[in-house]
Amino acid sequence: MDFFEQHILIVEDEPKIAALLSDYLHQQGGFNTSHLSRGDLVLEWVESHSPDLILLDLMLPGMDGIEVCKRLRAQSAVPIIMITARVEELDRLLGLELGADDYICKPFSPREVVARVKAVLRRSASGLDAGQLNGLIMDEAMHTAELNGKKLQLTPVEFSLLKTLTSQPGRVFSRDQLMNEMYSDYRIVSDRAVDTHIKNLRKKLSRAGAETELLESVYGLGYRYAG
Ligand code: CA
Repeated sequence: MDFFEQHILIVEDEPKIAALLSDYLHQQGGFNTSHLSRGDLVLEWVESHSPDLILLDLMLPGMDGIEVCKRLRAQSAVPIIMITARVEELDRLLGLELGADDYICKPFSPREVVARVKAVLRRSASGLDAGQLNGLIMDEAMHTAELNGKKLQLTPVEFSLLKTLTSQPGRVFSRDQLMNEMYSDYRIVSDRAVDTHIKNLRKKLSRAGAETELLESVYGLGYRYAG
């Protein structure tokens, strides 16, 4: 995929960070960038410029990143990567289900940001749908799943876990969110239970011939279906 001349909007009120991001996205990614330092300017700008992706800081003058993200989602499917200053914020952000495509924590390495931007753009360009998740097919009525034509023997909990993760490829789900989806009766289980089910799912996917890690752990956050 060619990233040349794709246009990234950076919304960040710290000039040094904005300049750093902009430089890296130019030099390492070949992107065009624009920069806004206030949240309340974003919606109108996006409407008239249609950027390909938005890097959105959480704490902003004018309107905070959460509100900006909500309003953007109401009008557009533009990929959004939220940037937060605190790891502790991330759980809360995930819980709000803002519809951001990824989250990055400060301090970040600019190299990592460029990699994440490319990954999000790649995912949004590939337009994965439920029918073709990289060779994975799930049949909800039959509660069966197969990868590249090979049947996966999944327990009901594994099936619902995989179903949740693949419902939005690339989106990070926290362990809490996954548990709520897995256990409809909300019984209290250790969040390590999620890790165990993921481990078993990975084994089954790899036995069925998955060549890459389809279920990615996102450090400190949870899991996502890489697709
Ligand atoms: Ca800020």
